[in-house]
Amino acid sequence: MIINISEASCPQCGETGLLKFTTLQDTVEVRGFAVTVNKVKRHCDNCGADFENTKDHDWKREAFDAYRAAFGVPSGDQIRAWREEYSLTQAEVSALLGWGEVTIGRYEKGALPSEAQATQLKSVMSKEGLYRALEEKSGAVVPEKRELLMEALKPNVIKAMYRKMVGDIYCTSNEAYNGGRQFVFEKAAALIYLLSEYREPVTKFNKLMFYADFLSKIELGHSITGVQYCKYQYGPVPDKFDTLYDCMKVHEVIDMEEAVIGIYPSKIVCPMSISYKGYLSEEEENIALRVVKFFKKYNASTIADYSHEERAWLEVGMKDPIPYTYANTISLIGRV
Ligand SMILES: [Zn+2]
Repeated sequence: MIINISEASCPQCGETGLLKFTTLQDTVEVRGFAVTVNKVKRHCDNCGADFENTKDHDWKREAFDAYRAAFGVPSGDQIRAWREEYSLTQAEVSALLGWGEVTIGRYEKGALPSEAQATQLKSVMSKEGLYRALEEKSGAVVPEKRELLMEALKPNVIKAMYRKMVGDIYCTSNEAYNGGRQFVFEKAAALIYLLSEYREPVTKFNKLMFYADFLSKIELGHSITGVQYCKYQYGPVPDKFDTLYDCMKVHEVIDMEEAVIGIYPSKIVCPMSISYKGYLSEEEENIALRVVKFFKKYNASTIADYSHEERAWLEVGMKDPIPYTYANTISLIGRV
């Protein structure tokens, strides 16, 4: 604080140079949430008066800031910065939210939004939320600008959509099917990227995923990704693997290249630009690399034959999920 009160005079007795700051910690409530703030007052040594001055530390703002931090409510500066990033006027944002125009201005100046409006704000400030708002409130923004914005936001919306889809596929909390780890998108993306560096056909790729996750269950006590696997004709595969890989394509983790292997057209899983490196622990990465090494000389057909010997495949019905309880039966244990 750079306020010089040595020259200020007391509003009570008029004496100059005898004022000093006193700070008192106090607990105040913001919407039922208790916050400790520093209440700064000026004390006059001459007459003993205590008073607040609006130029001093603003404890109401301090309380609001603490509340914002606790509940993830955007600050006025954040709202303005976001609005300017998309070149939106206050009127346009108000129209997108269905609010009065003064409301957004007040929030940018530091007023605290109600809980309901804070939720609306957070939503519209996300890329997906802004896209949805532009879609629904078609008249809020002029057509040319609206089109440009929606075009720019679309990839994020598709990404979010796919991510949600995949999250829904692997949402089980049943340890038998997630291997003791609730599905983690970043882990799946990291493992898929790592395996894609070896440019294998999808059929083989599916098996590498399966073995890495099942071996991890045994060695680390949990799967790497939390992905569920099921029995397919050519061996174990991640459940709905097409959607999983499409999602990773949209997120620029992998790409699929068309190839002909022997006489069969096939898709090769190739790395793209986003590696998610760092999301795997050293042990997890090590397991994946050992699986890759073990199957180095196998092709789609021989690895399928190999996997057909697993109890995890033999004892499960076609298209049925493969429980991780089979992890301790897989043939790789002690061999990789
Ligand atoms: Zn005084």
